[in-house]
Order: sequence, then structure tokens, then C-alpha cells
Amino acid sequence: METETQDITITDIRKLLDEVTDPEIPVISIHDLGVLRDVRKERDTFVITITPTYSGCPAMDMITLHIHGKLRAHHIPHFRVETQLAPAWTTDWMTDEGKRKLKEFGIAPPMGSKGGEDLINRHPPCPFCNSENTELVSAFGSTACKALFRCRDCAEPFDYFKCH
Ligand SMILES: [Zn+2]
Repeated sequence: METETQDITITDIRKLLDEVTDPEIPVISIHDLGVLRDVRKERDTFVITITPTYSGCPAMDMITLHIHGKLRAHHIPHFRVETQLAPAWTTDWMTDEGKRKLKEFGIAPPMGSKGGEDLINRHPPCPFCNSENTELVSAFGSTACKALFRCRDCAEPFDYFKCH
């Protein structure tokens, strides 16, 4: 089956890209993560712009591969993925929906704005019981993007997605 590009809209492409998720957090789409910056059409080619979350994050290559896989599977004939490094990605670009899904997944969403943050004095609400009686265990959680916290009320350890 060959699809003509002129029948495909940017909205169609965005819908497909909503199904592309972060490899480390499979519940959150690249749109909700704020990684998907733009979808535009140049002549008959769709140009998809993404901004990596953390430089050198191996997940980004995976995301590019997933985008290629998704669009090829839907017979999108002409597209390319561009990586934009500036302005740098910030957790502020994460959508509210993204933060909600992150919490449901058991990861405390980023709290403040970009810039350095004082993890010792942060008390992200526990994603399991909502208690703010939480403490930092380690500045690095399961990945460098996250810090490990523990809830003093329900005793559950949890990852906190650091602001960036
Ligand atoms: Zn708790």
C-alpha cells in the first residue's frame, strides 16, 4: 500500500507520534515529555524536530528509531527527524498530562523550574500515598535523570524526575 503524502496531514503525523513513548517511561509520550518540538511539512516531506532530554542520553537514539518505526509502519513515505539542541530541553516543557502519567507510573514529577535545585530540601509528594514526608536517599536514581527518594510514611522508595 502506497500512501500519497498530500493525503496526510500534520495532525495525522502528530497522532502517530503520540504513540511514541519514552523508552524508559513507556507511559509517557514524547509529546507529553516535551521532547517533540515541532512537526512541519517541507514540500512533500514531514520534518519532525526533537530535543533530547539529557545530552548523551541513549534514550534519544531509541526515540529516533521508534519514530522511524512508527511512521514506516504507517506507510509515511517522506519524513526526516531533526535533533535540535538549543534551546535546551527543560522539565518545564513536560505537559501536565505528562506529569500526571509520570506520577501514576510511580515516579514523582519534577517540581520546580529549571536551574539547580536543592534536592536535600525537596520533598516531592510520594507517588504512592501523596505524603510530603519524604527524604532524599541518593541524588542519582535508576538513571542520571532521576534522584532516589524514600517516603517516611509508607516506607516506599521512589524515583523523582529531577528538574532540568
Ligand atoms: Zn508514601
